Amino acid sequence: MPNDSRSDGAPDGADVDTDVAVVGAGIIGVACALALARQGLRVTVIDGQEPGRGASYGNAGHLATEQVFPIADASILKRLPAMLMDPLGPLRLDWKHLPRALPWFARLLLNLRPAPFRRTVAGIRALNENSLDAWRRLLRSIGGEDLLVQEGSLLVFERPESRHAIDALRARLEQEEVPVDTWRAGAVRDAAPQLSAHLQGGLFFPRTGHFVDPYRVVLRLAEAAQACGVRFLRRQVRGGRLRDGGACAGGVALATSQGELRARRVLIACGAHSAGLTAQLTGIRVPLDTERGYHLSLPREHGRLPFPVTSLERKFIMTPMAGGLRLAGTVEFAGLKRPADLKRAWQLHRLSQGLFGADLDAGDATAWMGFRPSLPDSLPVIDRVCGGRVLLAFGHQHLGLTHAAVTAEWIGQLAAPPAAGAPRALPDLAAYRLDRF
Ligand SMILES: Cc1cc2nc3c(=O)[nH]c(=O)nc-3n(C[C@H](O)[C@H](O)[C@H](O)COP(=O)(O)OP(=O)(O)OC[C@H]3O[C@@H](n4cnc5c(N)ncnc54)[C@H](O)[C@@H]3O)c2cc1C
Repeated sequence: MPNDSRSDGAPDGADVDTDVAVVGAGIIGVACALALARQGLRVTVIDGQEPGRGASYGNAGHLATEQVFPIADASILKRLPAMLMDPLGPLRLDWKHLPRALPWFARLLLNLRPAPFRRTVAGIRALNENSLDAWRRLLRSIGGEDLLVQEGSLLVFERPESRHAIDALRARLEQEEVPVDTWRAGAVRDAAPQLSAHLQGGLFFPRTGHFVDPYRVVLRLAEAAQACGVRFLRRQVRGGRLRDGGACAGGVALATSQGELRARRVLIACGAHSAGLTAQLTGIRVPLDTERGYHLSLPREHGRLPFPVTSLERKFIMTPMAGGLRLAGTVEFAGLKRPADLKRAWQLHRLSQGLFGADLDAGDATAWMGFRPSLPDSLPVIDRVCGGRVLLAFGHQHLGLTHAAVTAEWIGQLAAPPAAGAPRALPDLAAYRLDRF
């Protein structure tokens, strides 16, 4: 829980440039900036790129509230040799990244023991169960309801022997109270007639949705934030320190590519790049790595699917978007510096072959790679530390879009000044605390 529950913890004073400096203009940073500005705070968002050009640009757009289990599981270690040998497989590990990845994998394995696993699932569920309502509130508040389609999503399987895995998954999901329907082959054909007739059936998730353009969602939120007075600065943040002296004791100083910026508090929301600044300001080293993911967008493919469809065996998702059909997925452990291997994006088109009656048209397709920010317990950090001067919202792994609106509401509550004389009413954020590391 936050360090103090009586005051907002941040210093008063005139020698600051802004109340809150938000580092990172991805979906998390921008949604949080809007929530903070709506409390009357002066907010400045700093990003080395234009808003929404990180992982939030090209994700699969799926509000994946059905995904309550960590994506990575113990089989990751069994698959290590294959991962190292197959550069185009759904899961890939770059040899050069192995020394850094091994401790992360070890922590991931420790988190699969029963007690931490239960904590992870409960933590993901709390975010997922609030996701759709929080998104509806946020979209309504900016007039952006047109961006969200609430038609559910479907997980299909094609090999008869996969039925056992599908039934087992359904049982586990029901235990976690995820709304799910089993669809026979006929139901799949009726709802998505363009899919191949050889599909055996699947699981339909009615309480999920998708965005028709995830990048546009960030832009619309950024416009709304600007209209609320949020300033956007195009600068790289190089480091930061807690300010302990001067006319205004306290606050935070950020070293940026264009000089120093002083703030009463900072929100670290720079996705997969959040570890360095967090360590500098809080002294805590988070084991943040990136699971790099790819997409291939097919602008000539419209009307193939009514909702996102994931293939159980082929392990990727296809989402109908305003700009065509987006094929997305794959996990690549190769760090933040190695260039994208866009062959992996094109591999998604190969994977789609056979899933439809007629193959997808890849003419004018565009390929993309993004950095999922992933912690080995599959939970984000959402917290308020250093006496309220440092807020944290990063590490949303495969679910950052799903979790952005609810994260913004919680960060807003963490930053809000307490009502006079009353204890601060906060959501239970114990699962997302920084000091779990
Ligand atoms: C292929 C793929 C598919 C996905 N599909 C889904 C999906 O269907 N549903 C879902 O919920 N999630 C999905 N995700 C995950 C989701 O996209 C991420 O969890 C989410 O975008 C993370 O948002 P963010 O704002 O934390 O990070 P980002 O969007 O990466 O934003 C971080 C920002 O910080 C900036 N930054 C970094 N360092 C600095 C610095 N030093 N100074 C200034 N600025 C800095 C970057 O420029 C960037 O703009 C997917 C991800 C990928 C890659």
